[in-house]
Amino acid sequence: MLMPSEIPPTPLLQRGEHPCPTGDIKSRATAAYLGMAIGDAFGATVEFMTPREIAAHYGRHDRIVGGGWLRLKPGQVTDDTTMALALGESILASGGVFAGAAARAFDAWMRAKPVDIGSTVRRGLLNFRKSGATEVDYSEHDAGNGAAMRVLPVALAMLGQSEAAVRSACRAQAHITHHNALSDAATETLALMVQAALRGSDTVRLLHDYAHPLAAQHPEFTFRAVRQRQNPSGYVVETLQAVFQAFFDTDDFESCLIDVVNRGGDADTTGAIAGMLAGAVYGLDALPARWLNGLDPDVRSACARQAEALIAM
Ligand code: MN
Ligand code: MN
Repeated sequence: MLMPSEIPPTPLLQRGEHPCPTGDIKSRATAAYLGMAIGDAFGATVEFMTPREIAAHYGRHDRIVGGGWLRLKPGQVTDDTTMALALGESILASGGVFAGAAARAFDAWMRAKPVDIGSTVRRGLLNFRKSGATEVDYSEHDAGNGAAMRVLPVALAMLGQSEAAVRSACRAQAHITHHNALSDAATETLALMVQAALRGSDTVRLLHDYAHPLAAQHPEFTFRAVRQRQNPSGYVVETLQAVFQAFFDTDDFESCLIDVVNRGGDADTTGAIAGMLAGAVYGLDALPARWLNGLDPDVRSACARQAEALIAM
Protein backbone atom coordinates (compact mmCIF):
# COMPACT_ATOMS: atom_id res chain seq x y z
CA MET A 1 0.00 0.00 0.00
CA LEU A 2 1.25 3.49 -0.83
CA MET A 3 2.19 5.78 2.01
CA PRO A 4 0.37 9.13 1.89
CA SER A 5 3.56 10.89 0.78
CA GLU A 6 3.86 8.52 -2.20
CA ILE A 7 0.38 9.12 -3.62
CA PRO A 8 0.95 10.27 -7.21
CA PRO A 9 0.10 13.88 -8.06
CA THR A 10 -3.48 14.83 -8.83
CA PRO A 11 -4.48 12.94 -11.95
CA LEU A 12 -6.46 14.22 -14.91
CA LEU A 13 -7.00 17.75 -13.73
CA GLN A 14 -9.78 19.29 -15.79
CA ARG A 15 -10.69 22.86 -16.65
CA GLY A 16 -12.20 24.62 -13.65
CA GLU A 17 -10.54 22.39 -11.11
CA HIS A 18 -8.04 23.81 -8.70
CA PRO A 19 -5.13 21.52 -7.97
CA CYS A 20 -5.14 20.57 -4.33
CA PRO A 21 -2.33 18.99 -2.34
CA THR A 22 -2.72 15.29 -1.55
CA GLY A 23 -3.20 16.07 2.15
CA ASP A 24 -6.17 18.16 1.13
CA ILE A 25 -7.63 15.29 -0.93
CA LYS A 26 -7.30 12.94 2.03
CA SER A 27 -9.03 15.35 4.37
CA ARG A 28 -11.84 15.98 1.85
CA ALA A 29 -12.30 12.22 1.49
CA THR A 30 -12.59 11.93 5.26
CA ALA A 31 -15.08 14.81 5.28
CA ALA A 32 -17.15 13.05 2.61
CA TYR A 33 -17.29 9.85 4.66
CA LEU A 34 -18.09 11.63 7.92
CA GLY A 35 -20.54 13.87 6.06
CA MET A 36 -22.43 10.81 4.85
CA ALA A 37 -22.67 9.36 8.36
CA ILE A 38 -23.73 12.73 9.80
CA GLY A 39 -26.44 13.13 7.17
CA ASP A 40 -27.71 9.62 7.86
CA ALA A 41 -27.82 10.01 11.67
CA PHE A 42 -29.25 13.52 11.39
CA GLY A 43 -31.88 12.70 8.77
CA ALA A 44 -33.04 9.38 10.24
CA THR A 45 -34.89 11.24 12.99
CA VAL A 46 -37.35 12.63 10.45
CA GLU A 47 -37.39 9.80 7.89
CA PHE A 48 -40.88 9.35 6.38
CA MET A 49 -42.18 12.57 7.99
CA THR A 50 -43.63 15.44 5.97
CA PRO A 51 -42.14 18.93 6.22
CA ARG A 52 -45.29 19.99 8.05
CA GLU A 53 -44.91 17.23 10.65
CA ILE A 54 -41.23 18.07 11.08
CA ALA A 55 -42.05 21.73 11.63
CA ALA A 56 -44.71 20.81 14.20
CA HIS A 57 -42.33 18.52 16.14
CA TYR A 58 -38.99 20.28 15.83
CA GLY A 59 -39.54 23.73 14.37
CA ARG A 60 -36.43 23.47 12.25
CA HIS A 61 -34.72 20.10 12.76
CA ASP A 62 -31.02 20.89 13.26
CA ARG A 63 -29.66 18.53 15.92
CA ILE A 64 -28.56 14.89 15.98
CA VAL A 65 -31.00 13.44 18.50
CA GLY A 66 -31.82 9.90 17.34
CA GLY A 67 -35.40 8.67 17.65
CA GLY A 68 -37.52 8.57 14.51
CA TRP A 69 -39.49 5.53 13.37
CA LEU A 70 -36.41 3.33 13.99
CA ARG A 71 -36.07 4.58 17.61
CA LEU A 72 -32.39 5.25 17.15
CA LYS A 73 -29.92 6.22 19.83
CA PRO A 74 -28.58 9.75 19.32
CA GLY A 75 -25.78 9.52 16.75
CA GLN A 76 -26.74 6.06 15.52
CA VAL A 77 -26.59 5.53 11.75
CA THR A 78 -28.70 3.29 9.50
CA ASP A 79 -28.26 1.07 6.43
CA ASP A 80 -26.94 3.90 4.29
CA THR A 81 -23.74 4.21 6.31
CA THR A 82 -23.40 0.58 7.40
CA MET A 83 -23.76 -0.75 3.83
CA ALA A 84 -21.11 1.73 2.67
CA LEU A 85 -18.80 0.56 5.46
CA ALA A 86 -19.43 -3.09 4.53
CA LEU A 87 -18.64 -2.32 0.88
CA GLY A 88 -15.55 -0.35 1.87
CA GLU A 89 -14.23 -3.23 4.00
CA SER A 90 -14.70 -5.62 1.10
CA ILE A 91 -12.81 -3.27 -1.24
CA LEU A 92 -9.92 -2.97 1.22
CA ALA A 93 -9.82 -6.71 1.92
CA SER A 94 -9.96 -7.80 -1.72
CA GLY A 95 -7.82 -5.00 -3.16
CA GLY A 96 -10.46 -3.61 -5.51
CA VAL A 97 -14.15 -3.37 -6.35
CA PHE A 98 -15.27 -6.96 -7.02
CA ALA A 99 -18.92 -7.95 -7.23
CA GLY A 100 -18.38 -11.30 -5.48
CA ALA A 101 -16.54 -9.82 -2.53
CA ALA A 102 -19.07 -6.99 -2.26
CA ALA A 103 -22.03 -9.38 -2.41
CA ARG A 104 -20.53 -11.55 0.36
CA ALA A 105 -19.95 -8.43 2.47
CA PHE A 106 -23.55 -7.26 1.95
CA ASP A 107 -24.83 -10.75 2.77
CA ALA A 108 -22.83 -10.81 6.02
CA TRP A 109 -24.17 -7.32 6.75
CA MET A 110 -27.77 -8.57 6.31
CA ARG A 111 -27.11 -11.60 8.55
CA ALA A 112 -25.98 -9.23 11.30
CA LYS A 113 -29.54 -7.87 11.44
CA PRO A 114 -29.12 -4.22 10.41
CA VAL A 115 -31.44 -1.65 11.95
CA ASP A 116 -33.15 -1.18 8.57
CA ILE A 117 -32.96 -2.62 5.06
CA GLY A 118 -34.63 -1.64 1.80
CA SER A 119 -36.91 -4.13 0.07
CA THR A 120 -34.90 -4.14 -3.17
CA VAL A 121 -31.68 -4.68 -1.23
CA ARG A 122 -33.21 -7.58 0.68
CA ARG A 123 -34.54 -9.18 -2.49
CA GLY A 124 -31.19 -8.86 -4.26
CA LEU A 125 -29.24 -10.32 -1.35
CA LEU A 126 -31.66 -13.24 -0.96
CA ASN A 127 -31.17 -13.84 -4.69
CA PHE A 128 -27.40 -13.90 -4.15
CA ARG A 129 -27.75 -16.23 -1.17
CA LYS A 130 -29.84 -18.68 -3.18
CA SER A 131 -28.11 -18.59 -6.56
CA GLY A 132 -24.70 -17.01 -5.99
CA ALA A 133 -25.55 -14.51 -8.72
CA THR A 134 -23.90 -11.13 -8.19
CA GLU A 135 -26.18 -9.37 -10.67
CA VAL A 136 -29.97 -9.25 -10.50
CA ASP A 137 -32.03 -9.15 -13.71
CA TYR A 138 -32.65 -5.78 -15.28
CA SER A 139 -35.81 -4.20 -13.86
CA GLU A 140 -37.64 -1.05 -14.89
CA HIS A 141 -39.02 -0.84 -11.37
CA ASP A 142 -35.90 -1.16 -9.23
CA ALA A 143 -35.00 2.52 -9.40
CA GLY A 144 -34.67 2.92 -5.65
CA ASN A 145 -31.77 4.85 -4.15
CA GLY A 146 -30.14 1.84 -2.42
CA ALA A 147 -27.20 1.45 -4.80
CA ALA A 148 -26.51 5.19 -4.94
CA MET A 149 -26.53 5.69 -1.17
CA ARG A 150 -23.61 3.25 -0.60
CA VAL A 151 -21.32 4.21 -3.53
CA LEU A 152 -18.87 6.46 -1.66
CA PRO A 153 -16.15 3.84 -0.96
CA VAL A 154 -16.04 3.05 -4.71
CA ALA A 155 -15.48 6.74 -5.49
CA LEU A 156 -12.60 6.92 -3.01
CA ALA A 157 -10.93 3.64 -4.00
CA MET A 158 -11.16 4.44 -7.74
CA LEU A 159 -9.87 8.02 -7.59
CA GLY A 160 -7.45 8.53 -10.47
CA GLN A 161 -8.85 5.69 -12.59
CA SER A 162 -10.51 6.32 -15.95
CA GLU A 163 -14.13 7.42 -16.02
CA ALA A 164 -15.09 4.17 -17.75
CA ALA A 165 -13.44 2.13 -14.99
CA VAL A 166 -15.16 4.18 -12.28
CA ARG A 167 -18.54 3.75 -13.94
CA SER A 168 -18.03 0.02 -14.34
CA ALA A 169 -17.03 -0.40 -10.67
CA CYS A 170 -20.12 1.58 -9.62
CA ARG A 171 -22.34 -0.80 -11.61
CA ALA A 172 -20.58 -3.90 -10.27
CA GLN A 173 -21.60 -3.03 -6.71
CA ALA A 174 -25.00 -1.62 -7.76
CA HIS A 175 -26.21 -4.61 -9.77
CA ILE A 176 -25.95 -6.94 -6.80
CA THR A 177 -29.30 -5.45 -5.77
CA HIS A 178 -30.35 -2.71 -8.23
CA HIS A 179 -30.15 -3.15 -12.01
CA ASN A 180 -31.80 -0.15 -13.57
CA ALA A 181 -30.67 2.61 -15.92
CA LEU A 182 -31.74 5.48 -13.65
CA SER A 183 -30.13 3.89 -10.59
CA ASP A 184 -26.93 3.34 -12.60
CA ALA A 185 -26.89 6.91 -13.91
CA ALA A 186 -27.41 8.36 -10.43
CA THR A 187 -24.86 6.07 -8.79
CA GLU A 188 -22.16 6.74 -11.39
CA THR A 189 -22.82 10.50 -11.40
CA LEU A 190 -22.53 10.72 -7.61
CA ALA A 191 -19.23 8.84 -7.60
CA LEU A 192 -17.81 11.05 -10.37
CA MET A 193 -19.05 14.20 -8.57
CA VAL A 194 -17.35 13.17 -5.33
CA GLN A 195 -14.11 12.49 -7.20
CA ALA A 196 -14.26 15.86 -8.98
CA ALA A 197 -14.91 17.58 -5.66
CA LEU A 198 -11.90 15.82 -4.12
CA ARG A 199 -9.79 17.13 -7.02
CA GLY A 200 -10.98 20.66 -6.29
CA SER A 201 -14.18 21.27 -8.29
CA ASP A 202 -16.54 23.76 -6.68
CA THR A 203 -20.35 23.54 -6.80
CA VAL A 204 -20.62 25.65 -9.97
CA ARG A 205 -18.27 23.27 -11.75
CA LEU A 206 -20.13 20.22 -10.44
CA LEU A 207 -23.43 21.66 -11.66
CA HIS A 208 -22.09 22.18 -15.18
CA ASP A 209 -19.97 19.06 -15.46
CA TYR A 210 -22.26 16.49 -13.82
CA ALA A 211 -25.74 17.57 -12.69
CA HIS A 212 -26.77 19.25 -15.95
CA PRO A 213 -25.36 16.46 -18.16
CA LEU A 214 -27.20 13.86 -16.06
CA ALA A 215 -30.49 15.69 -16.62
CA ALA A 216 -29.68 16.13 -20.32
CA GLN A 217 -29.20 12.39 -20.73
CA HIS A 218 -32.06 11.35 -18.43
CA PRO A 219 -34.64 14.18 -18.33
CA GLU A 220 -36.26 12.52 -15.29
CA PHE A 221 -33.46 14.05 -13.23
CA THR A 222 -34.26 17.63 -14.22
CA PHE A 223 -34.33 19.40 -10.89
CA ARG A 224 -34.41 23.15 -11.50
CA ALA A 225 -37.75 23.05 -13.27
CA VAL A 226 -39.61 20.93 -10.72
CA ARG A 227 -41.06 22.63 -7.69
CA GLN A 228 -39.00 22.26 -4.52
CA ARG A 229 -38.93 18.51 -4.01
CA GLN A 230 -40.53 18.11 -0.60
CA ASN A 231 -40.97 14.73 1.00
CA PRO A 232 -38.73 12.89 -1.52
CA SER A 233 -39.38 9.17 -1.74
CA GLY A 234 -36.83 6.36 -2.10
CA TYR A 235 -37.14 6.70 -5.90
CA VAL A 236 -33.61 7.65 -6.90
CA VAL A 237 -34.90 10.43 -9.16
CA GLU A 238 -36.75 12.19 -6.31
CA THR A 239 -33.79 11.57 -4.01
CA LEU A 240 -31.32 13.25 -6.36
CA GLN A 241 -33.70 16.11 -7.18
CA ALA A 242 -33.99 16.94 -3.48
CA VAL A 243 -30.23 16.55 -2.92
CA PHE A 244 -29.32 18.69 -5.94
CA GLN A 245 -31.81 21.43 -5.05
CA ALA A 246 -30.41 21.64 -1.51
CA PHE A 247 -26.75 21.25 -2.54
CA PHE A 248 -26.79 23.81 -5.35
CA ASP A 249 -28.92 26.36 -3.50
CA THR A 250 -26.71 26.57 -0.40
CA ASP A 251 -23.08 27.54 0.20
CA ASP A 252 -22.03 25.45 3.16
CA PHE A 253 -22.31 21.97 4.65
CA GLU A 254 -24.65 22.83 7.50
CA SER A 255 -27.22 24.77 5.42
CA CYS A 256 -27.22 22.07 2.75
CA LEU A 257 -28.00 19.30 5.23
CA ILE A 258 -30.60 21.26 7.16
CA ASP A 259 -32.31 22.15 3.88
CA VAL A 260 -32.47 18.60 2.53
CA VAL A 261 -33.34 16.81 5.77
CA ASN A 262 -36.19 19.18 6.65
CA ARG A 263 -37.89 18.08 3.42
CA GLY A 264 -38.55 14.80 5.21
CA GLY A 265 -39.36 11.68 3.18
CA ASP A 266 -36.31 9.47 2.75
CA ALA A 267 -34.41 11.98 4.86
CA ASP A 268 -31.64 9.71 6.14
CA THR A 269 -30.70 8.85 2.56
CA THR A 270 -30.98 12.37 1.15
CA GLY A 271 -28.97 13.44 4.19
CA ALA A 272 -26.31 10.77 3.57
CA ILE A 273 -25.95 11.62 -0.13
CA ALA A 274 -25.98 15.38 0.43
CA GLY A 275 -23.49 14.86 3.26
CA MET A 276 -21.00 12.98 1.08
CA LEU A 277 -21.14 15.65 -1.65
CA ALA A 278 -21.04 18.63 0.71
CA GLY A 279 -18.28 17.03 2.79
CA ALA A 280 -16.17 16.47 -0.33
CA VAL A 281 -16.65 20.07 -1.51
CA TYR A 282 -16.46 22.01 1.75
CA GLY A 283 -13.96 19.83 3.66
CA LEU A 284 -13.43 18.79 7.25
CA ASP A 285 -13.45 22.28 8.75
CA ALA A 286 -17.01 22.77 7.47
CA LEU A 287 -18.48 19.89 9.49
CA PRO A 288 -20.25 21.41 12.51
CA ALA A 289 -18.49 20.23 15.69
CA ARG A 290 -21.79 19.50 17.41
CA TRP A 291 -22.74 17.07 14.62
CA LEU A 292 -19.31 15.45 14.44
CA ASN A 293 -19.26 14.99 18.21
CA GLY A 294 -22.85 13.76 18.13
CA LEU A 295 -22.00 10.80 15.88
CA ASP A 296 -21.58 7.35 17.40
CA PRO A 297 -17.81 7.27 18.20
CA ASP A 298 -17.29 3.81 16.68
CA VAL A 299 -18.95 4.89 13.44
CA ARG A 300 -16.95 8.11 13.41
CA SER A 301 -13.63 6.30 13.73
CA ALA A 302 -14.62 3.57 11.24
CA CYS A 303 -15.53 6.21 8.64
CA ALA A 304 -12.34 8.20 9.14
CA ARG A 305 -10.17 5.07 9.07
CA GLN A 306 -11.84 3.73 5.94
CA ALA A 307 -11.65 7.05 4.08
CA GLU A 308 -7.88 7.25 4.62
CA ALA A 309 -7.29 3.62 3.68
CA LEU A 310 -9.46 3.76 0.54
CA ILE A 311 -7.89 6.96 -0.74
CA ALA A 312 -4.43 5.41 -0.26
CA MET A 313 -5.26 2.40 -2.49
MN1 MN B 1 -31.41 4.20 6.11
MN1 MN C 1 -33.60 5.91 3.91
